[in-house]
Amino acid sequence: MITTRALYKTWPGGASLRFPDLTLPEGQTLLLRGPSGSGKSTWLALVSGLLTPTQGEVIVGAQSLSSLSQTQRDTWRSTHIGFLPQGGRLSPALTVADNLDLVRFAARREPPRAHQATLVRRLGLEGLLRRRPHELSGGQTLRVALARALLLQPALILADEPTASLDDDQAHEAMTLLLEHTQASGHTLVVATHDQRAVQALDGAQSLWLEALS
Ligand code: ADP
Ligand code: MG
Repeated sequence: MITTRALYKTWPGGASLRFPDLTLPEGQTLLLRGPSGSGKSTWLALVSGLLTPTQGEVIVGAQSLSSLSQTQRDTWRSTHIGFLPQGGRLSPALTVADNLDLVRFAARREPPRAHQATLVRRLGLEGLLRRRPHELSGGQTLRVALARALLLQPALILADEPTASLDDDQAHEAMTLLLEHTQASGHTLVVATHDQRAVQALDGAQSLWLEALS
């Protein structure tokens, strides 16, 4: 599902990140680990086509990302990937309900209604739908972003620190939802985390270790 070769990204300001090659088969789960600053978020941005590598190649499914234009990558991402950015990152001007709606506009596809209702209930979002992002706590923001990532049941989920700022029950529910999504349908999951609760929930998953920058 994901292949990276000789992937390398330099950031203006100094950081040079050289990533180990990876082959992750469809339906598998990957635990992306490494200390803060080792490049986990950068790796997810490269694999989702939000960033272009300085060198190297990313292939997701049958798609080589370097052969797509920026606009094509945006369309491809909205239809193929559920992306949970670090901290959640919702659109600040939109209500929670409209943030959830945004994914179907972007992908031009309707989420299954029962699935949407289940996500809203299990993530405890019923009372939050009319709020705007500045009226949410960090944990609430993250739960909305998780619902948004799972809504269209994409073949690949990329989740950046999905349990940060969640209490134990919420972290357990978040990991359960992510695992159900992959186990029920053979979808592929990548979780970047340094949270032991997430690591334990993904016991047995393939892992990719990113080293601290020297
Ligand atoms: P992690 O998610 O593992 O904490 P990141 O991918 O966020 O690591 O960061 C890896 C390195 O890249 C860090 O040294 C960070 O300072 C640098 N970096 C990340 N984003 C940017 C950016 N937008 N501009 C410049 N440097 C960045
Ligand atoms: Mg990060």
